[in-house]
Amino acid sequence: MAELEGLEFGKSDFVLLDEVTMEQFMENLKLRFEKGRIYTYIGEVVVSVNPYRQMDIYGKDTVDAYRGRELYENPPHLYAVSDAAYKAMKRRAKDTCIVISGESGAGKTEASKYIMQYIAAITNPGQRAEVESVKNVLLKSNCVLEAFGNAKTNRNDNSSRFGKYMDINFNFNGEPTGGHINNYLLEKVRGWVGSDEMLESFHLQNDPAVYIYTREGAATVTSNNDRSSHKAVMSALGVIGFSNEEINSIYQILASILLLGNVQFETDGESVQILGLEAIDHIAELTATEADSVIKSLLFRTVATGGGEVIEKGHTEQDACFGRDAFAKALYERLFCWIVNRINSVIEVKDYNPVLHGKNTVIGVLDIYGFEIFENNSFEQFCINYCNEKLQQLFIELILRQEQGEYQREGITWQHIDYFNNQIIVDLVEQPHKGIISILDEACLTVGKVTDTVCLESMDTKLAQHPHYTSRKLSPTDKTMDFQKHFRIRHYAGDVTYSVEGFLDKNKDLLFQDFKRLMYNSADPVLKEMWPDGQLSITEVTKRPLTAATLFKNSIVALVDKLGCKEPYYVRCIKPNEMKSPVLFDDARCQHQVAYLGLMENVMVRRAGFAYRQHYARVLQRYKMTCEYTWPNHLMASDREAVEAIVTQHGFQDDVAYGHTKLFVRTPRSLYTLEQERAALI
Ligand code: ADP
Ligand code: MG
Repeated sequence: MAELEGLEFGKSDFVLLDEVTMEQFMENLKLRFEKGRIYTYIGEVVVSVNPYRQMDIYGKDTVDAYRGRELYENPPHLYAVSDAAYKAMKRRAKDTCIVISGESGAGKTEASKYIMQYIAAITNPGQRAEVESVKNVLLKSNCVLEAFGNAKTNRNDNSSRFGKYMDINFNFNGEPTGGHINNYLLEKVRGWVGSDEMLESFHLQNDPAVYIYTREGAATVTSNNDRSSHKAVMSALGVIGFSNEEINSIYQILASILLLGNVQFETDGESVQILGLEAIDHIAELTATEADSVIKSLLFRTVATGGGEVIEKGHTEQDACFGRDAFAKALYERLFCWIVNRINSVIEVKDYNPVLHGKNTVIGVLDIYGFEIFENNSFEQFCINYCNEKLQQLFIELILRQEQGEYQREGITWQHIDYFNNQIIVDLVEQPHKGIISILDEACLTVGKVTDTVCLESMDTKLAQHPHYTSRKLSPTDKTMDFQKHFRIRHYAGDVTYSVEGFLDKNKDLLFQDFKRLMYNSADPVLKEMWPDGQLSITEVTKRPLTAATLFKNSIVALVDKLGCKEPYYVRCIKPNEMKSPVLFDDARCQHQVAYLGLMENVMVRRAGFAYRQHYARVLQRYKMTCEYTWPNHLMASDREAVEAIVTQHGFQDDVAYGHTKLFVRTPRSLYTLEQERAALI
């Protein structure tokens, strides 16, 4: 327990609070933030508050201080959990994972970078060239993904890129040998920053305000910072092994996305025309296609009639706009997936032979959005929050399973902890036939005019009895909801009201086959490779693609399976304010996050069992000076007996249990007394 700093910095573990109340929690969090202590534990969980300033706590000295140490021997830090994960992996050959969650801007990605840097710093002491090159590519790939996934500009500030999971593989020696990245992308169109020369060669202007897709946040997009990060990205792409042609294609695709966003349509009531054909020429050039084909795919779609005839049907203005945006999104999504696949092919562990090389172990790092609750919550929030329910399930299962396992191994009897099992909410969303995703999918499959509101009605009918679902129809007196629009889910972290507007379109994620064919026919081999399904003709594409929600669900189920067989560590990130200020602690905003991250529950679960446990030898080593029978050395038959002497001398024998190899302490208060005494003596 890291009471190494004295109380003026607050309590370094929330488990040590006098009472577990939101008030005390917030007071402690704020005090620590104000004192520049951005990390605090809940047991082994790290709570981090974004400092919005450079902290001098990540250097080599700090790495050395944390290396090989136990969690409670140093002040709370990301390095301590990184080390714990690494030790578990190396000493016990366990696969481990570090789950980092929090809202946008809370510091998740920075945290994942520090974790990777720490692991890089403590591995490969012999500086073997192959290992160094693996580490380098792993670190660089992070930079590339961030650059493409994380541009500042966005048409819709409500929806966002959402998660990334990276496995780092280690050989039996604990040296990194490779990795694999999974990406969870929800929202697709992103802005972009380039050098002036590049912008010019791609027919772009150096002013993001010119482009509809990047208009918001335009003030910040061309800062010097972005310029230098552009250089860093270019160099990172090179290090990873992208060829110049590939890099060029990547930027050409990004440029065409921006230009596409500015294509406008007009209609005379009969047919639809494109305004500003110049942009079309540029798009055609950048995508290595013909301008005529681009125009055609924007204005018409090929449809197969009932009689098997293929005809061209002109778009309405509305359809044309919809098609354009869907196309831009799909271009971005496929580009991003292609980059991820390409990186994976480079970092993938090749020729690993367990017989020759020993067991291959993994540390997974998950950087993922926490619970989201906005004024208006849409399909994206629905997906993110479902994911968080799944992660909460896993958290409960893993933490409790881990605890029970340890008590069993150590021969300790303990009381089962009662906790809220959120499986019922997970079922509400994902259950076949009855769950929300199924109802949505069914609505998307229905031929004819099914609107979002019709879908809502169907949910109301099927879910009327569900204790975690409600809507205006089901609770008519609740004026905060609209009959046509809203449903509400009682999530484990609180109630969220969703608007069904756009649910069906977003779930269908429809892209006209004409765009796919256009891209497949591109003379740019990189672009062509991203659109293999473009070779199908309209009569061949009869099979319904999986919906966005179902694809998302499948990827989250796979993720949870992956995490489920690993030993988990958690980092919970909090954004202290909306102004990026290093001095402002916005109480309301922070409290909101503490609630949605489920931190109070976390503290309670942690306190319900034995808050701390430690090997006898370690306890002795740390506290032997506090007891006359153990200082400077004890003469007892075992370390366990010596620890018993310490405990008895301090009078908290009722608060502990003696395991086979470890001392278990129920309330933090007891250990805290020991820590204070120790501090007074040394
Ligand atoms: P997220 O990934 O959760 O959206 P980021 O990790 O990108 O958030 O953090 C947003 C910004 O906050 C960073 O660009 C950086 O300026 C600042 N920041 C976050 N964590 C730290 C930290 N540990 N030290 C200094 N600045 C930080
Ligand atoms: Mg991030």
